[in-house]
Amino acid sequence: MTTSPLPPSLVAPGGTVGILGGGQLGRMLTLAAAELGLKTHIYTPDSKSPAGQVANSVTQAGFEDEAALLQFAQSVDIVTYEFENIPLEVTSYLQNHVAILPDPQALAIAQDRLAEKTFLQQNGIATAPFAEVSADHSIEQAIEHIGCPAVLKTRRLGYDGKGQRVIRESKEAPGAWKSLAKAPALLEAFIDFGCEISVIAARGQDGAIACYDIAENIHANHILHQTFVPARVSNTIAQAALKTATDIIRKLNYVGVMGIEMFANLPGPDAPHLLMVNEIAPRVHNSGHWTSDACPVSQFEQHMRAICGWPLGSTTRTHNAVMTNLLGEEWRRWQTYAQTPNTSLHLYGKQDTRPGRKMGHVTQLLPLVE
Ligand code: AMP
Repeated sequence: MTTSPLPPSLVAPGGTVGILGGGQLGRMLTLAAAELGLKTHIYTPDSKSPAGQVANSVTQAGFEDEAALLQFAQSVDIVTYEFENIPLEVTSYLQNHVAILPDPQALAIAQDRLAEKTFLQQNGIATAPFAEVSADHSIEQAIEHIGCPAVLKTRRLGYDGKGQRVIRESKEAPGAWKSLAKAPALLEAFIDFGCEISVIAARGQDGAIACYDIAENIHANHILHQTFVPARVSNTIAQAALKTATDIIRKLNYVGVMGIEMFANLPGPDAPHLLMVNEIAPRVHNSGHWTSDACPVSQFEQHMRAICGWPLGSTTRTHNAVMTNLLGEEWRRWQTYAQTPNTSLHLYGKQDTRPGRKMGHVTQLLPLVE
């Protein structure tokens, strides 16, 4: 029997939040929940998950295990998620038993780059020009439409630059698609942006919206390396970025925290106004980690407040900040980071160190200067 999704309601201190996924985002959500007197229950296939180490309870099971999912649903007051690639069958099944926030329709959009870009375009939000590539929509047609240089991206399961090829000349296009196993894809115009920025936005059950200051992101090998605030964008771009984030979160009737990544231009006499959304992440986001140290209410606490029906908290920034991800072996320098002035160290308790793996982060606080 299929019942309609349950409406969310207030989860008071003492209540339990179920979290799908056990990574570092789940760990930081769990720590924030504990600060609010809430309990967490992590659902993850991983036996040594970063979140499981600090949560009140853990279900270690696969996402196909309906009996485990049912028990999980019955043991929590609300469910949320900390990664995007949760099968939608799982959220549909759970919704028969417990409320899920943010609404999984945001997952459906974020899991598919074509659905994501189409949603944005339909709502008047600028993105890179794009064209579908599939068995029915040839790469040659797409190149003709978009031109070169371009970026070919698989529709699904692409992150940190995986499932992507830059195409400089049209003759490279068929080979590029072949190298992505001819998976359904999207061809995007290559955008010559000045910087990458992100907005961490939150919407409460009451419809209130709060955004943190715009952050600027530096990637290395397609993985986020550093985020700093404030971003070096003009006030006009900053205001437009906040409006864009607000429009997206409102259009989706979203409840929770969302990370919205954008391409923008640096200020300059000849710089054209450039602001395009590249990606939306319906969850707390790596580029919002600085909020744990530089704002009264972190993105993790904010997410818990939003989904539990509490008022949103203050997003006022009290410092400038530079957040650096500790990738791979870098975390072994923890003693050096621990001695660095005005710097907080966050380690995720991951058992295996692998190149490029996010093992922790540090945030350096600097005096507040706009
Ligand atoms: P994504 O997986 O879409 O987040 O892309 C990973 C990174 O590739 C982005 O952070 C950008 O640095 C770069 N990138 C993605 N799309 C484009 C584009 N259309 N033009 C130029 N660079 C891009």
